[in-house]
Amino acid sequence: MVASQRSLSPYVTVLFGHEQGKYPDGNSVLVRGTHSSVVIDPALSMHAATPPVEVDRVLLTHAHEDHLAGVAAVVAGEVSVHHRDLPALQSIDGLMALYGVPVAAVAEMTALVTERFHYKGWPDATGFDDGDVFDLGGVSVRAVHAPGHTGGHTVYVVESDDGSHRTVVTGDIDLSSFGPYYGDAQSSLEEFEATLQMLPSLVADHYVTFHHKGVIDGHESFVEAVDAFAAAIPRREAALLHLLREPRTFAELCDIGIVYRPGTRPPLFGDGVEAHSIERHLHRLVEAGRVVSDGTRYELA
Ligand SMILES: [Zn+2]
Repeated sequence: MVASQRSLSPYVTVLFGHEQGKYPDGNSVLVRGTHSSVVIDPALSMHAATPPVEVDRVLLTHAHEDHLAGVAAVVAGEVSVHHRDLPALQSIDGLMALYGVPVAAVAEMTALVTERFHYKGWPDATGFDDGDVFDLGGVSVRAVHAPGHTGGHTVYVVESDDGSHRTVVTGDIDLSSFGPYYGDAQSSLEEFEATLQMLPSLVADHYVTFHHKGVIDGHESFVEAVDAFAAAIPRREAALLHLLREPRTFAELCDIGIVYRPGTRPPLFGDGVEAHSIERHLHRLVEAGRVVSDGTRYELA
């Protein structure tokens, strides 16, 4: 069975991954209604479940390798994700496009996601839209589009029909000290900021993050955690402005980085994450007239 679990309501169970869902593992959420069931983000540890988890549908918050790592271990009728992430779930080409992996790294990244994360490509997977509701009998799961991390990133509001209990599953809005991740080709800083503005409107008894925090109890604690998480964005911008006190090329900025602490940059995709993130902050600072470029180097205006 999985490392540990916690029941949040008669319908909702959190299946914790190892070390509170530390990457590459994560925390999955099982929702069993009176006539249907779903598992949200089946993680790597699903492969250790005996007997296998059996549900009518797998729902993903988004199509990243760690969130779909347990799909192959779950017995399920259907696998669904927001339609903007659907190509990444259906084929490896779609997944590589979502990441924005440089051609030279595609083979190695493909090996990583297929061997370590059990990625199969699910051509029959289906897409849903913002606001779609999955009625499971006595409890429902509502998709709330929360883009930025990926284009299709979705949080789920799980609510008992009698209104007695509500849980929000936040996916990779993981409320970690790392802060928001918008380092893929199909990520967006602007969309992530809009999502962060929207999140406090989701009032619930519990909030489940895929990594790190696990379960947060109560709306007040959730809003505090969102604020602390969001603070990483201005912190990165300040780091970039600090670097631009002297003229630097884009490549020099990427070498130093604003996202990962020194010595913690992941070997395979870390450079790409820094480049995508710096590009997004830089674009905004240039637009605002705070940074100028002579075509080669950037510096404070
Ligand atoms: Zn992710």
